[in-house]
Amino acid sequence: MEIVQNISLKAFNTFGIDVRTQYFTEIESVDDIREALSFANKNQLPYLVIGGGSNILFTQNFQGLIIKNNLKSIEVIHEDQNNYYIKSSAGEVWHQLVLYCIENNYAGIENLSLIPGSVGAAPLQNIGAYGVELKDVFYELEAYHIPTQTIEKFDLNDCAFDYRESIFKTKLKNQYIILNITLQLKKNPQFNIEYGAIKEELEKMNCTSLSVKAISQAVINIRSSKLPNPKEIGNAGSFFKNPIINQEQSGQLKKEFPSIPIYPSKANQFKVAAGWLIEQCGWKGFRKADYGCHAKQALVLVNYGTAKGQEIFDLSTAINESVFEKFGIELECEVNIV
Ligand SMILES: Cc1cc2nc3c(=O)[nH]c(=O)nc-3n(C[C@H](O)[C@H](O)[C@H](O)COP(=O)(O)OP(=O)(O)OC[C@H]3O[C@@H](n4cnc5c(N)ncnc54)[C@H](O)[C@@H]3O)c2cc1C
Repeated sequence: MEIVQNISLKAFNTFGIDVRTQYFTEIESVDDIREALSFANKNQLPYLVIGGGSNILFTQNFQGLIIKNNLKSIEVIHEDQNNYYIKSSAGEVWHQLVLYCIENNYAGIENLSLIPGSVGAAPLQNIGAYGVELKDVFYELEAYHIPTQTIEKFDLNDCAFDYRESIFKTKLKNQYIILNITLQLKKNPQFNIEYGAIKEELEKMNCTSLSVKAISQAVINIRSSKLPNPKEIGNAGSFFKNPIINQEQSGQLKKEFPSIPIYPSKANQFKVAAGWLIEQCGWKGFRKADYGCHAKQALVLVNYGTAKGQEIFDLSTAINESVFEKFGIELECEVNIV
């Protein structure tokens, strides 16, 4: 394992923010993790594990050790009458895992096609898209417990998954490095095409018989047409979560703003479309210097080239303030601010 000094992180975050890190290393085994953590401890350095850097906004140089997860392997570890159990190391690219499953007709993650980032970060925020969340296909994961240097298993209940949440972002924050996850995928697919424009896209594709491959392709087509490609315009997808409100707040907002998009979430809870709130405050398409709010997706903050992380963060604060002023709703960042 090699530790390099003073390198730019521009290529390691999808916002394309050009900050530098004091130290940087790539890990390929648990031994590498131990070595990297021991280096950080010995030198009393903060450290940060990253995968694809697609959910991080760096606002300043990192005075510590960035640990890029490069643990690789995908294998079918078990199958029973109805399911395949696919174990993937944390450093695999999520979409590559999806493509592997599609190729082999393992069903369940086709709606999660083309989400950027690594497999290891997927449980952290319980990634989700087009009506499916990681938790729907999750079986278990193994994680390295930093304080005791041991490897522990977590099943579905242990992870306390919620909307863009898990125990690794709350109670157990910064205590574990996720090493691998195991998915439980179906032999007989239960297609989920009700969400978004999947049905219309399948029609456009002249799809006559449903398959995981067709749904994956439909999702890829929709995402490619709607979301800015980070290789062309720096971004981290949705910057904010869709806020959750209660029935009373929902009723009041609907009275005041009849066209507000509010959807039922869990019991007595409702989700408001954050993109709509931001759009109503006039931010959609906003641009100053090289930072702004995407012209097609108000929820996506962007770096057109040389924006600073702090500029994007300040923009997010201004957006949040105006949304609060107009709707009395506080937005919560989905992106991790570093
Ligand atoms: C264009 C675009 C579209 C997107 N669309 C979606 C979407 O539809 N749905 C969705 O849910 N998300 C979406 N995202 C967000 C992003 O893809 C996910 O959050 C993804 O899981 C991040 O993976 P990553 O490897 O890049 O994580 P990183 O950005 O590298 O890290 C994110 C956080 O996880 C921690 N972390 C990373 N790896 C580990 C590990 N092995 N162990 C412990 N902690 C770890 C990091 O320290 C950091 O706090 C989108 C992003 C972009 C750029």
